[in-house]
Amino acid sequence: MSKGTINVAVENIFPLIKKFLYSDHEIFLRELISNATDATLKLKHLTGIGEAKVEYGNPLIEVKVDKEKKQLHITDQGIGMTQEEVEKYINEIAFSGAEEFLEKYKDKDGKDAGIIGHFGLGFYSAFMVAKKVEIITKSYKDEPATHWACDGSPEYTIKKSKKTERGTEIILHIADDSTEFLEESRIRELLVKYNKFMPVPIKFGTKTETLPKPEGAKEEDKAPTKEVDNIINNPNPAWTKLPTDLEEEDYKKFYRELYPMQFEEPLFNIHLNVDYPFNLTGILYFPKLTNDMSIQKDKIQLYQNQVFVTDNVEGIVPEFLTMLRGVIDSPDIPLNVSRSYLQADGAVKKISSYITRKVADKLKSLFNNNREDFEQKWNDIKIVIEYGMLTEEKFFEKAQDFMLYPTVDDSYLTLEELKEKIKDAQTDKDEKLVVLYASNKQEQHAYIEAAKEKGYEVLLLDSPIISHLIQRLESANEKLAFVRVDSDHIDNLIKKEEEAISKLSEEEKESLQTFLTEVIPAEKFSVQLEPLNSKANPFIITEPEFMRRMKEMQQTGGGMFGMGSMPEMYNLVVNTNHELVSEILNTKTKKKKERLVNQALDLAKLSKNLLKGEDLTAFIKRSYEMIK
Ligand code: ADP
Repeated sequence: MSKGTINVAVENIFPLIKKFLYSDHEIFLRELISNATDATLKLKHLTGIGEAKVEYGNPLIEVKVDKEKKQLHITDQGIGMTQEEVEKYINEIAFSGAEEFLEKYKDKDGKDAGIIGHFGLGFYSAFMVAKKVEIITKSYKDEPATHWACDGSPEYTIKKSKKTERGTEIILHIADDSTEFLEESRIRELLVKYNKFMPVPIKFGTKTETLPKPEGAKEEDKAPTKEVDNIINNPNPAWTKLPTDLEEEDYKKFYRELYPMQFEEPLFNIHLNVDYPFNLTGILYFPKLTNDMSIQKDKIQLYQNQVFVTDNVEGIVPEFLTMLRGVIDSPDIPLNVSRSYLQADGAVKKISSYITRKVADKLKSLFNNNREDFEQKWNDIKIVIEYGMLTEEKFFEKAQDFMLYPTVDDSYLTLEELKEKIKDAQTDKDEKLVVLYASNKQEQHAYIEAAKEKGYEVLLLDSPIISHLIQRLESANEKLAFVRVDSDHIDNLIKKEEEAISKLSEEEKESLQTFLTEVIPAEKFSVQLEPLNSKANPFIITEPEFMRRMKEMQQTGGGMFGMGSMPEMYNLVVNTNHELVSEILNTKTKKKKERLVNQALDLAKLSKNLLKGEDLTAFIKRSYEMIK
């Protein structure tokens, strides 16, 4: 047996290792299994090219917990190491890597530890959880096995071992503050989290498998069982295969494998597969999405050569696509860096725009190949598309090919189709095409009905970010004005069509205006007399389109104004051709007149969802009184 000191400048580096990666201790297992996987794949390669004259067979990696001895074993059947190699790779090279890593990051306040902590420490991360580590290894070369041990001080021992099978066994003597890693359930959890799709089968214990009953067995006979290796991973996950080798069902199956607790099927998938100018494979899924964007993020998993890295892909995938699910696997994403560095990295930028392009292409082909099906899915996917159009210039351009504009009557139009439909009827005095839309079918029912009666096309645009998108669409299409059905702009259209003749004389109008201005609070409503169709409601509340949109944009962030809320200001359009308005004029007593106005105003408020709380209660009371 020989002793030595690990080539190290810092006196005792192990406490540092332990401290630095405090929150991320669990990654030691992933690191050791990655090493075991590499060793196995190296052997595969060497036997493949005839370099190693041994049988490759069906090698496994085995993980075993020995709770009594407080040990964790990780055993592989890979290339192993000769004593010389242990000296070189473990004592010198590996350690200098760990040292460099710590030098670089020990001053950081841990803010970026999210991704920094992910790779780099390799073998020595074992000391985050173990007070002593042993390596027993036998090379595929015809040399005796080696036994290395180190108790966390820079000293190690190295001696010959009797091990006869090729491969490496790592024994961790778990430290007293890390006994959680002696719990089978904890180890299983880690194996599933990090190693679920690693390329070499990983055995963790055994399980009982039920075999088919032998022929002629009786009903009450128990089916025979057999103890088999419990393999926790799928070494050949779908994303590592070629798209041409996969059926629709395979993609769905893989989705269930990724999200066992997710019962809803994905709407469609996108298979990513490039090897130039960067390496990237993966499968993205469009799930059914709701309007709440925040709860559905962070479901995409990032892998590096089938090793799980993180489920926070911020900075790698454009933000609007973080609502998707699935897997991205790339060795070309630098991981020992901070997020801000990541976003500026050239390769990552290319990856991000590649993914955006693939998603846009897929949406376009879905639209072209089966429009009906695409329309049916629209409401479940629109939030991603709209968000993408708002945030990614390139995607905005591409989306012109498949962005749909649903009407309140459930037909789905492209922008061109919409323009064609409204070009004769819906222009305003500036010659712009006016796109009428509703954001809520229930709340704006009266307005939608009124517009439809006039033969206007009304869209249903109900996403929370729609006001931002509309702003964007208008700036891209100068000749387009989006106007919500209950906004004041609609008057322009209505008046034009009616070529209004007023039933009231100028004096009557003046007297009405004076009276209404007295009764109706001027800080909230600006009264506007209009000779509308006699069947239209007598009082209609509209909101200036501009004001409402600014308010909405403020609520969803990114409005034009800083803080401070917008004043609530509405137009009250009084239909001078309505019978009730004549009645108000002709009523003699002031009190009765006021009552009529207030009741009509409340009804108008009610139909715009503005009557709430105390006012609503008073209105209901008053209405009961009236019908008594
Ligand atoms: P890295 O894997 O990043 O090179 P590590 O510190 O994890 O760094 O390992 C250092 C070296 O030790 C590896 O490059 C490899 O040569 C050797 N090694 C580690 N684990 C094993 C193993 N299970 N079988 C064979 N060689 C190993």
